[in-house]
Amino acid sequence: MSLLARKIRLIMKLRKSGITDTTVLAAIERVPREAFIPPMFHDQAYEDMALPIERGQTISQPLVVAYMTQELRVNDRHKVLEIGTGSGYQAAILAKLCRRVYSIERHKPLLILAEQRFNELKIRNLTAKIADGMKGWIEQAPFDRIIVTAAASDQPPQPLLDQMAEGGIMIIPMGRDKSSQYIYRITRHGDEYAYQQLMPVRFVPLLPNVARNEPEPSPAERDADGEFFFRPGQALQPA
Ligand code: SAH
Repeated sequence: MSLLARKIRLIMKLRKSGITDTTVLAAIERVPREAFIPPMFHDQAYEDMALPIERGQTISQPLVVAYMTQELRVNDRHKVLEIGTGSGYQAAILAKLCRRVYSIERHKPLLILAEQRFNELKIRNLTAKIADGMKGWIEQAPFDRIIVTAAASDQPPQPLLDQMAEGGIMIIPMGRDKSSQYIYRITRHGDEYAYQQLMPVRFVPLLPNVARNEPEPSPAERDADGEFFFRPGQALQPA
């Protein structure tokens, strides 16, 4: 089956799974997911699953990307902050839907690859940097929308709450371990923050500080639930 046929099948699956926002579906259709994953997984680009990327991280499952984007309720006037650039795929989807995206990644090799992809795809309304995203991006705050694509343990980092605009929305996965993570939507009104629990998910953890000299993580293999895990001592092919 061609990539295009697989893409159409994926879009139909997303619609059946509750992605009704046509602007989100159009963004998924327009951004080539295969450009964001290591070549060895290209034939799986339009399967609805998370895939391993470099540095032991993952590009989220398309349904999770679509769902989080839909629940973020983003429009073309919004300034959006993303924590966890990773492959850059979620950021590229957001760039199609909002005025400007700021994205932060703690692994420099991932950011370099993501920026190459943004250039190749001529995405211009997106700025990414290496930093600890738990501190937010104070020079650009406040943000109409914040999306965190790594899991916090039990509460959102305070700087991110502080950097939400009035009426702003944050989408963030939280939970102490992978079996009890949920996506939350947080809405700010003045000093009040309303929390809503959405769907269960499994994300890599939100970690403090920029990554320095962390050992090269290992390649992905699937565990019993079809999730990827990483076995020490082997290396993923660089993209
Ligand atoms: N949005 C990504 C998903 C990446 S996985 C995509 O579409 O591909 C989560 C990413 O969050 C990883 O790359 C990880 O390195 C990054 N991350 C974790 N903690 C972070 C932090 N404190 N600041 C910035 N990035 C962080």
